Amino acid sequence: MKVFVTGGAGYIGSHVVLALGEAGHEVMVYDNLSTGNRGAVLHGELVVGDLADRALLAATLERFRPDAVMHFAASIEVGESVRDPLKYYRNNSANALNLLEAVRAAGIGRFIFSSTAAVYGNPPVVPVDEEATLAPINPYGASKLVTERMLFDLAAADGAFRYVSLRYFNVAGADPQARLGQDYANPTHLITRALKTALGIFPKLQVFGTDYPTPDGTCIRDYIHIADLARAHLDALGYLADGGASTVCNCGYGRGFSVNEVVAMARQVTGIDFPVEAVGRREGDPAELVAASDKIRRLLNWRQQHDDLEFILKTAWAWEKKLAAKRVSELAS
Ligand code: UDP
Repeated sequence: MKVFVTGGAGYIGSHVVLALGEAGHEVMVYDNLSTGNRGAVLHGELVVGDLADRALLAATLERFRPDAVMHFAASIEVGESVRDPLKYYRNNSANALNLLEAVRAAGIGRFIFSSTAAVYGNPPVVPVDEEATLAPINPYGASKLVTERMLFDLAAADGAFRYVSLRYFNVAGADPQARLGQDYANPTHLITRALKTALGIFPKLQVFGTDYPTPDGTCIRDYIHIADLARAHLDALGYLADGGASTVCNCGYGRGFSVNEVVAMARQVTGIDFPVEAVGRREGDPAELVAASDKIRRLLNWRQQHDDLEFILKTAWAWEKKLAAKRVSELAS
């Protein structure tokens, strides 16, 4: 199939682009490179463009004529969304509207959306399933929920348009061959921060909140390996190609780890007892997010391969070391 991928130069998008290429699909990436990297696009053509540029978007879709669209391009930081909510409604909601209008005008009927477990807010029952009440507690989750709602309404109005919305839990790790991984200028996610602290890039790791209603007082998350998440997108594509109806699926393993448990595993995998400091809560963080993931297994026939926190940390660590060595050689030359 021909697949148009927004945000394909970013962390998750680039891994999916690689998986699409390996599966024999033709890919076009559309990315403004605000956080993504040109070098992360290992397959297909990269068009450097913004979703706010409706003319370029329409012309690019017209030229490529994709069979399906995967939409990754978004802002993704909970803390930043609390401080700068309009950035999130602009990048995640308004730009998604631009994209959907362009997709509809081009007559494209298959759409896969990067949604988030943040749409659930603080779920009353954990593991949380897809039928749970949607009550985001931060602008990030709310801005993604707006797009989920647009997709739902568009599919209801137009029988030729079908979508799969994938609600990601905490995506982590790197390509097991270390060809790709997370590479942001200012990473905020726990595992990346922990490993960069082990490398001495940050002086210490801050643990945001130790007074949550969880067994050790730190937040619990369901960490899913990037390769398993990438696989879910190919499964969703196959599902839509087979005529599957529009749907929403959680992407997680169904098992949670606390921040302290992740820190302990990061120290074990790196062999480095890096400094950690307990500080206050970060605004917008729910105490516990763990996926009920029966639906994606049943409906999309998704099979996990890397449900293993140690493997997640090991692949992320191999990538971080590779990245650090690359930076050193760049500085030396
Ligand atoms: N976290 C932390 N220190 C950090 C980064 C994250 O304690 O430097 C915590 C954060 O408060 C949350 C969990 O780790 O409880 C996962 O946060 P992350 O930003 O990785 O992902 P999110 O759950 O926000 O998508």
